Amino acid sequence: MARKSEQLIIVGSIAFDDLDMPSGEHRNVLGGAATYAALAASLLARGNVRVVGVVGTDFPEEILGDLRGRGIDTSGVERAAGRTFRWHGRYSSDLASRTTIDTQLNVFADFAPKVREEHCSTPFVLLGNIHPELQVRVVGQMRGPKLVAADTMNFWIEREPASLAKMLAKIDLLIINDEEARQLSGIHNLVRAAADIRKRGPKSLVIKRGEFGALLFDEEGAFFVPAYPLEDVHDPTGAGDSFAGGLMGYLASHGEASPIALRQSMFFAAALGSFCVEGIGPSRLLAIDRSDLAGRIAAFARLVNYGGSLFLPASHG
Ligand code: AMP
Repeated sequence: MARKSEQLIIVGSIAFDDLDMPSGEHRNVLGGAATYAALAASLLARGNVRVVGVVGTDFPEEILGDLRGRGIDTSGVERAAGRTFRWHGRYSSDLASRTTIDTQLNVFADFAPKVREEHCSTPFVLLGNIHPELQVRVVGQMRGPKLVAADTMNFWIEREPASLAKMLAKIDLLIINDEEARQLSGIHNLVRAAADIRKRGPKSLVIKRGEFGALLFDEEGAFFVPAYPLEDVHDPTGAGDSFAGGLMGYLASHGEASPIALRQSMFFAAALGSFCVEGIGPSRLLAIDRSDLAGRIAAFARLVNYGGSLFLPASHG
């Protein structure tokens, strides 16, 4: 039975990034967590994705127009006096680690996300990595959401533990990476770390492990998706946000967040993360369409399913 597609609202940064990659330097690349998440989600829930963010007077209207052309509602993107948020990152030669060279918050410093009255009943909510106090305030503006997911980062884990605890108590799904899960729980073993974090509020937890895939922990137990094996990785920026956007875009398009839907969404999340890293900035996400996505999902199925069943060989003797 086809389910009714529902709306998704994404709150987070919209940015210009300077990216120093081993292959070269790229300046003023469109970035921000909300941007990546919305582009990924729009491939699954076109026409049902809303963004809440802030840009400065330097942000070209054509970029917002391009997002709208992809079925993303940008009416929640505020234009404030000043410059757009800017981030400068430098990657190691193997792309495995990165250093923040500079963060200029600019208009993002005073960002107090306001959800438009007509968007307050959006059933699926993705809270990008912003101050946990602001994430709590967004949840407070929503009316009866079906699923609230959030991201966070080490900065907030270290500096705002009390606000973070409040936020965790209000969400259904936390999507973080392995390092953050260990830091948040103080536990190295990820299974134990997940149990500890789930006790603090989110009944479901996704732990992203980059090229080693991602784990979901919920009431049904643990579930794993691999990262799609790629020949060419150009830029990991935004992969985590594309993963989260893909996951939430799938659930919104499905209109439900059952354990099985969550497991299915993990493949779409991993597929969108894998596309993201194939280009500099969001270039690859901007270039693909639903048939590319369908192709990668089919390739994923071939990756984990050889077409038979697995059984223990009969013992002889
Ligand atoms: P990711 O690679 O998934 O961590 O996402 C990278 C994106 O996050 C970049 O496009 C940046 O513009 C954005 N970003 C970097 N630092 C911050 C921050 N402190 N708050 C919000 N967004 C950020």
